[in-house]
Amino acid sequence: MSTPALLGALAHNYAPLPVTLVSGEGAWVVDDEGRRYLDLLAGYSALNFGHRHPALVAAAHAQLDRLTLTSRAFGHDLLEPFARALVGLVGPLLAGDDALVVPMNTGAEAVETAVKTARKWGYEVKGVPADRATIVVAAGNFHGRTTTIVSFSDDPDARAGFGPFTPGFRVVPYDDVAALRDAVDETTVAVLLEPVQGERGVVVPSRDYLPAVRTVCDEAGVLLVADEIQSGLGRTGYTLACERWGVRPDLVTLGKALGGGIVPVSALVGRADVLGVLTPGTHGSTFGGNPLACAVGLAVIDLLSTGEIQAAARERGAALGRRLDDLEYTGAVETVRRAGLWAGLDLPGPLTGRQACERAMAAGVLVKDTHGATIRLAPPLTISADELDEALDRLTDALPTR
Ligand SMILES: *Cc1c(COP(=O)(O)O)cnc(C)c1O
Repeated sequence: MSTPALLGALAHNYAPLPVTLVSGEGAWVVDDEGRRYLDLLAGYSALNFGHRHPALVAAAHAQLDRLTLTSRAFGHDLLEPFARALVGLVGPLLAGDDALVVPMNTGAEAVETAVKTARKWGYEVKGVPADRATIVVAAGNFHGRTTTIVSFSDDPDARAGFGPFTPGFRVVPYDDVAALRDAVDETTVAVLLEPVQGERGVVVPSRDYLPAVRTVCDEAGVLLVADEIQSGLGRTGYTLACERWGVRPDLVTLGKALGGGIVPVSALVGRADVLGVLTPGTHGSTFGGNPLACAVGLAVIDLLSTGEIQAAARERGAALGRRLDDLEYTGAVETVRRAGLWAGLDLPGPLTGRQACERAMAAGVLVKDTHGATIRLAPPLTISADELDEALDRLTDALPTR
């Protein structure tokens, strides 16, 4: 049976901007008619190092000519180096002295791995009665698209029609320590949070929130799981956004930028005594930790190891903040939230977020709306000062002033 050409063969679970991209380099992408755009979405932070970063592409090319997949039934020569490098980068930022890594592919898988690990730890170490474990999460969260993960989403689009849902989650308001404390009881194994809620529109909690959450977790013997799939690996100007508040999570999920915009690479990194509950056969992935993923992941970790990328994100982020202040003064934007080189802009109307993105596209800059009247900016962390200025000039042209 043929597919009606007008509708196309893709299911309609996305409504992309009407642009067809054919190439990219750094902060730039080119469409099928040769038009050049500055990419201020950067694959939702999967492209923190821009399109086709030379060191990452070289690592991938070299590995493609050597070995691409073994499955975890066998070892390969980059698996342990990748895990060690990730522990070297992130381990010192976590609670506990020793860290371990579970390599996975997508972000949702890393979150699922965290949920499973926290539950098993709860039963075997904390002593929670069988099948009674609860995990406290925040309203407005985005942790992925699996049936378990959408079970604790409060976004009607993400949830409706996909039940029955997985039990064992308690949703409390974000940035509300008292509500969180009330939701924690003797069945609670973990608190799972984004240190900054990216999908919601780059919502940054108040200064004392995460430290207070850490205290609640410590007092109740509960794991703090930070989902840093979008906020981590340089985006906020730090390796982990949690560093901003001096908070050490017990487990952290990483993804997106870990694959350098080339292959999906995710990981759960956490306290060795917690990840120690995983034994052969209890969890796994056919592609997790494959040689190509490890080669690219190692090159990504190498880029982050000097701190230059994080410093660049802070510096460019400050410049972005100044330009966004101007947009706020002129009334083109209602409110601005920012963390490093990451910002959420609420529009005053009457333009919807979508319409603003279409106008920005016409002006040569690609951005993405979220939740109606909000635009999220996440330029590649490698964007130059001039390119960032150029992008903001274009965005300013696209947004009407009041
Ligand atoms: C993108 C994202 C995920 C899900 O990652 P996928 O690779 O799309 O499965 C989970 N958590 C956060 C915070 C994210 O931004």
